Amino acid sequence: MTIKPDVNEAGATPAPAASPATPKDAAAVILLRDGSDPADPHVFWARRGPGMAFMPGFYAFPGGQRDEADALAAVEHAADRETATMIACAARELFEELGVLAARGADSLTKGQLASVLDDLTSGRMTFAELLAHYGLRLDARDFAYAGRWVTPPFSPRRFDTLFYVVRCPRKQEPRVLTPEFDRGGWTSAREAFESWRRAELLAAPPVIHALRTLAGGLTGDLTDRFLSVPQAHRRPLRAIEFLPGFVCFPVRTPTKPPATTTNCYLVGTQEFVVVDPGSPYEDEQDTLAEHVEGLLSEGRVLREIILTHLHPDHVGGAEALRARLGGGVRIAAHRLTAEPLRGSVRVDRFVEDGEVIELEGEPRLSLRAMHTPGHARGHLSFYEERSGALLTGDNVVGVGSVLIEPGEGSVRDYLSSLERYRKLPNLVALFGGHGPAVGSPRAKIDEYVSHRLRREGDILAAVRGGAETGRDIVARVYADVSPKMHAMAERAVAAHLEKLEADGLVRRDEGGRVSAR
Ligand SMILES: [Zn+2]
Repeated sequence: MTIKPDVNEAGATPAPAASPATPKDAAAVILLRDGSDPADPHVFWARRGPGMAFMPGFYAFPGGQRDEADALAAVEHAADRETATMIACAARELFEELGVLAARGADSLTKGQLASVLDDLTSGRMTFAELLAHYGLRLDARDFAYAGRWVTPPFSPRRFDTLFYVVRCPRKQEPRVLTPEFDRGGWTSAREAFESWRRAELLAAPPVIHALRTLAGGLTGDLTDRFLSVPQAHRRPLRAIEFLPGFVCFPVRTPTKPPATTTNCYLVGTQEFVVVDPGSPYEDEQDTLAEHVEGLLSEGRVLREIILTHLHPDHVGGAEALRARLGGGVRIAAHRLTAEPLRGSVRVDRFVEDGEVIELEGEPRLSLRAMHTPGHARGHLSFYEERSGALLTGDNVVGVGSVLIEPGEGSVRDYLSSLERYRKLPNLVALFGGHGPAVGSPRAKIDEYVSHRLRREGDILAAVRGGAETGRDIVARVYADVSPKMHAMAERAVAAHLEKLEADGLVRRDEGGRVSAR
């Protein structure tokens, strides 16, 4: 019964920064429906299941990581070996995930034969290269139209270097979701899909949004050029990630705790906007963010204020620098309990109270409702936008790693009630946390967090009932498999849990500080 401590969260003692994950080679297929209207093409997309580690709840195209055996597949008319391998990867993923075999010669197979070919692959009886050779099928690079190469930004614990290919679905083949990675999927008009994203009805990653927007322009002669018309389609890192209209995540490098390497700064609003948590203490990152904000101002957009979710250095470290860079006139807003301890380092001009609504004019117009959600820190704020269902969770829920609650600023009891408040929000679509990618399956994530805390509490109580009398004893029992280097932090996490167990009347503490079960 061991649990890993929460070690990746920036608290009072910043650890040396980790380095971002190395992107893995991957390929994805933008599958077009055969015979669909060239002015309004239909494309197949699917939603990633709520339990997926990478971008749960996001709509995506079929695809995945390159397999070693992909290099063995023969691909006709490929420019080079590398291209051939990635096309084989795309074709294999398309076949495994949707049952569509984009190989020449596949049209002579019956449905039954196609199913047994797929079984040969998924059961591991044959590699993709072997089955293509065995059934006399040929991959042809001309069937895979290159549509760009995107790299997941460094803020994600998992990163992919993905080649996108536009493929026409072979006649007589009907895609269907075959992988547990997706919980639903189907054909959609590219235009309608793009419009649903614009109405904030669903989440999708930037390359998917770009593909939909491109296809919505029709299957014109310059389709490839339009796909490749943005720098990110050429592996240029994307700094400003628009997960939903009006919600731009701008990850900045911070001295936060591993595995996180960045803190998410958010720019919320279209015409009027706020900047939430400009956390980087590094000048180069502050400059990049300031230039981005200045770009928005030069378009005539209006910055209402800078908002801080909580007091940790990786969330406030660039606030004064951004204000100075913008001429010093911008207000900084935070909760009173954040402003007080920051006095002397950050000047907070305005206190944000629970229930306050910040109206941001624009298209769409956004209403951010402030929620005082202590637990990770006493003055922690979250912001909920009801129309879009977007919740800025600060460090209460994060897209990478887990959350540290330690005594002093932290309180397990407050934390659980803050999560409970999140859970009760109507129309919750997405969680935008302080670190890592957005979460598109909010309720599953919140439930996971709550059960994780309760499980930990149960383990700690069991250790006390089993005779552990000090934080150190408890850590030795509950965190047995964790490196001793982490034990000091684990002890602080245990202390926070003991505070709650004492308050609940389940544990008592004697004058010497020794704990026992009641
Ligand atoms: Zn924090």
